[in-house]
Amino acid sequence: MEIIKQKRVWQVFVLLATVFGICIVIKGRADISSSRKGFFAMDTYMTVTVEGSKASKAAELAEREVNRLDEELSTGIEDSPVSTINRTGEGYLPEDLDYLLKRSYEIYQMTEGAFDITIYPVMKAWGFGGDSFCVPKAETLKELLNHVNMDGLQYDQQLHVLHLESGAMIDFGGIAKGYTGDRVASVLQERGVKSAMINLGGNVRVIGRKSDGNDWRIAIQSPDSAEQYLGVVSAHDVSIVTSGGYQRYFEKDGIVYHHIIDPDTGYPANSGLLSVTIISEDGTLADGLSTALFVMGKDDAIKLWKEYSDMFEFILYTEKRELYVSSGIYDTFTSELPVYIVE
Ligand code: AMP
Ligand code: MG
Repeated sequence: MEIIKQKRVWQVFVLLATVFGICIVIKGRADISSSRKGFFAMDTYMTVTVEGSKASKAAELAEREVNRLDEELSTGIEDSPVSTINRTGEGYLPEDLDYLLKRSYEIYQMTEGAFDITIYPVMKAWGFGGDSFCVPKAETLKELLNHVNMDGLQYDQQLHVLHLESGAMIDFGGIAKGYTGDRVASVLQERGVKSAMINLGGNVRVIGRKSDGNDWRIAIQSPDSAEQYLGVVSAHDVSIVTSGGYQRYFEKDGIVYHHIIDPDTGYPANSGLLSVTIISEDGTLADGLSTALFVMGKDDAIKLWKEYSDMFEFILYTEKRELYVSSGIYDTFTSELPVYIVE
């Protein structure tokens, strides 16, 4: 009898240990869970993938931050601060916009005006501000270009009040998603997220490495086909931002007109590049430069990189279907196409 009793005690012990063990395994699995959230904002489809505990809550916060910024930055939302300034010629810039105005001016100076947020009157004339596209007359563009000049903005830094001269308008479309990626990354990191990928319609920001310890792998879309890739970048803790005429355009009389405008001519940039990818820890800079380098063309883009090679890396894809890649990321970029390394 005694022996049987002891056996029962052991059986109960083994049963409890097993259940407890299973609980630990299940809890462990939950800790490395991953959550992916997709949503539509800023005129594009976005996805946020978060790995680790509380992943779904973090993905929800990411969406909230994107929507908050969309409401501030959008030229399409009637009452956004940007729309109000464009309509009335004057307005207050909340903190995010104050920061973006300063960063935009930095990039404007760095790129000798290739990036210029005062391009908006010209964007509108082409119909890129709304839905009905048209090819403006040359004299219309000539007149509108008189208002394209970031140096003409008057900004009271103390009061955060921006004043536009008559006819001038601003648009942060060339830098907004890069900044949004930076902000979402901050929000997630403040919540303790160590591993995430934020994909804002081709503007990608990665936090840390994947939970298996490997770098994130980001495919760069080919301008020639939505089903093809130029190559894959392996990276951690950076933004990877791509600009290209193929992302938004219309066709009239057999000619394709895209949405990245050369501030010198008022016409869609025709610099011999089909796409520009910028890799940088600074997503705001990456976005501004992806637009600017697309306007500038290969040779000037390379010249600029040589001056600021500590701040960003690039992948340029030309109309001749050649890939130029800066030396700092060559090791982490794989492609089946021939690649020219720029030292
Ligand atoms: P991205 O996709 O980052 O190259 O940004 C393209 C968007 O930037 C356009 O849809 C416009 O809103 C805006 N944009 C177009 N041309 C310029 C330019 N030269 N400088 C600044 N922003 C521009
Ligand atoms: Mg950009």
